[in-house]
Amino acid sequence: MRNVVILGSGCAGLTSAIYTARANLEPLVISGAEPGGQLALTTDVENYPGFKEGVLGPALMQEMREQAARFGAEFVSDDAHAVDLSPRPFVVEAGDGRHEAKALIIATGASARFVGLESERKLIGHGVSTCATCDGFFFRDQEIVVVGGGDSAMEESNFLTKFASKVTVIHRRDELRASKIMQGRAFRNEKIEFIWDTVVEEIMDVEKGEVTGVKLRNVKTDEVSEFPCRGVFLAIGHIPNTQLLEGQLELDQAGYIVVHDHTKTSVEGVFAAGDVQDYVYRQAVTAAGSGCMAAIDVERYLQGLEG
Ligand code: NAP
Repeated sequence: MRNVVILGSGCAGLTSAIYTARANLEPLVISGAEPGGQLALTTDVENYPGFKEGVLGPALMQEMREQAARFGAEFVSDDAHAVDLSPRPFVVEAGDGRHEAKALIIATGASARFVGLESERKLIGHGVSTCATCDGFFFRDQEIVVVGGGDSAMEESNFLTKFASKVTVIHRRDELRASKIMQGRAFRNEKIEFIWDTVVEEIMDVEKGEVTGVKLRNVKTDEVSEFPCRGVFLAIGHIPNTQLLEGQLELDQAGYIVVHDHTKTSVEGVFAAGDVQDYVYRQAVTAAGSGCMAAIDVERYLQGLEG
């Protein structure tokens, strides 16, 4: 039986692995099929303290992982497929393994939301992206579309104008959800245009294996049109990775874990860190900070169990 099992290997999970390993708790990290979390999908990270020239996201995650391993953290590279929070010890199943733990840290993060088209899944990485920071560079002097009307869509659109010749925002309503300041920036940017009341119904061309355009539908008139572009950036929000926990601990309406007293969840002995419980800040450094907090909270909890 483990003292602590950590679900997730992004900034939050790996920071809690470093801290619990250094506290001699011999943590097991279920790093999942997408190790490194969202930073593993980015390129330059310029706002993580301590790297004045910036650092590549995947390199930073590799350093964190090796740092945790140096202090004795162990890793399982499968996704967890079942978690049972009712018995003590808790049970986590991943791959063929069954792991028991006195305490759990949930750091499974949040994933980008997709529109729900087969073509977007087939073309992801081939002109469809959920991360402007990661992929903007590939669209130098090309025309691209951004789907969404929130702060992310505005931020990404502005960022993408550094590369693209034109950015067209496609929003399903006639009003943006984004804050006024972000709206203002986008409206003032001459390279950004808007198509309102419109949804993307298809991304072409799956057969060619590249993006050549999108099929659009105006939701008010039902008019269908085709819009040529070379890239499609989805910026329609994130979904917290809490599906395995539904009904087992308190989640908010959007599915994020509800924490109290910093990192405690509604189940004693289960702690949460990073984007799975934070839809406000969602930064590498805040995720790392909450991973540290969860590790210290676990340490105190385990000391309490020993009486
Ligand atoms: P969001 O605020 O939830 O906005 C998602 C946008 O995508 C909305 O405009 C929504 O349309 C649209 N959308 C959702 N599902 C869709 C679908 N299936 N098809 C088409 N459109 C769809 O998400 P977000 O922009 O990622 O922001 C999340 C949070 O982070 C927010 O609190 C935001 O303020 C914050 N944030 C802040 C900054 C900043 O201040 N620098 C930057 C990024 C994010 P509707 O409007 O019609 O619902």
